[in-house]
Amino acid sequence: MKNHYDVIIIGAGPAGLECARTLMDSEYQVLILDKSKIIGTKICAGGVKDSEDIVDVPEQLVKRFDKHISYLRGHKTVLSLSKDQFKCFERIDFGQYLLKQIVKAKNITIKNPVLVKKIGKGEIETNQGNFTYKYLVGADGSNSIVRSYLGLGSKHCMGLYYNILPTSNELIAYYDPKTIKTGYIWEFPHKEVNNVGIYFDLKLLNPQKAKQYLQDYLKLRSYEFTENEFYGALINYDYQGHEFGNIFLCGDAGGFASRLHGGGMSNGMTSSRDIARKILDDNYDYQGIKIILDKKKQESRLLDMAERLPAWVLDILLFVVLKLVKLPFIGKRINLM
Ligand SMILES: Cc1cc2nc3c(=O)[nH]c(=O)nc-3n(C[C@H](O)[C@H](O)[C@H](O)COP(=O)(O)OP(=O)(O)OC[C@H]3O[C@@H](n4cnc5c(N)ncnc54)[C@H](O)[C@@H]3O)c2cc1C
Repeated sequence: MKNHYDVIIIGAGPAGLECARTLMDSEYQVLILDKSKIIGTKICAGGVKDSEDIVDVPEQLVKRFDKHISYLRGHKTVLSLSKDQFKCFERIDFGQYLLKQIVKAKNITIKNPVLVKKIGKGEIETNQGNFTYKYLVGADGSNSIVRSYLGLGSKHCMGLYYNILPTSNELIAYYDPKTIKTGYIWEFPHKEVNNVGIYFDLKLLNPQKAKQYLQDYLKLRSYEFTENEFYGALINYDYQGHEFGNIFLCGDAGGFASRLHGGGMSNGMTSSRDIARKILDDNYDYQGIKIILDKKKQESRLLDMAERLPAWVLDILLFVVLKLVKLPFIGKRINLM
């Protein structure tokens, strides 16, 4: 069995697959490893803004919306959406779509399910033997073994959701600073199910309480839900660097997800594409990552301030923002959608 590769990518989520796609047809022999039996099986609400245009998903796989409804407790704000502003899709469809693009490439080998157990200098240990590398890319998500090897801690937020039978076709965000703090509840209708979940920062809310608030919301909306269709996972937003000699971190492993809303597919793909470009050209200057980091800095400033405010002040501020967002010239700048 061949066991040396120029580039080993751990993780075949959006970040790992996009990294491999960018290295496709290059001089490098690439190995991509994932512990999942089926690529794309990730706990995720599968919603993205079209302005995050790197996520190009075939239209037949997506669900689109003509409006976005925000609730600040009882106050309702409706924003019209153009057909190409927001879409929802199943992660499994997305993963399989990305996989199809690289599966025939001569320089890419995909092995799964393979669990990477240990990282070493120039070598990794898996449950199917050891592999050596020139470059290693950690695209292994929010509990990254590559990140741990580099000695980096993480800061996590969390998403919990129920998949329920579709009873509504509305794209909804629900805020209540007194309970959910800086987080929110979402409703993302998909083709087959509706995904209703809660996003929150673990330092402000514990998962038990968050789950309770989510259930209260579902009851308020008279939605039926079952524990068989309950899912939750961590999201790492703690960026501490992405290049460590010949080891790179991208996507959630690198802490690229948004602390503001928890979305991370788009940042994951941009960061991993940049890392692949750097591997291909040492002079590459990480243009995409610079843009993400600027945005993450702004989000952090906003959240650091919001977290210090009493809930009632945050409530008033949100009320004002949701009113302002209706005014076209301000709405475009705030860009909630
Ligand atoms: C509840 C929830 C809802 C979300 N909703 C959205 C949303 O609507 N929109 C959005 O943009 N983002 C959303 N996110 C965030 C999004 O899922 C992540 O940001 C995104 O998946 C990150 O991609 P990634 O490729 O970096 O990591 P992942 O998608 O996590 O992929 C990592 C891969 O690495 C593999 N792996 C991990 N460890 C090992 C190992 N030791 N050996 C081998 N393989 C390994 C895993 O099997 C996995 O396939 C949500 C997250 C959660 C938890």
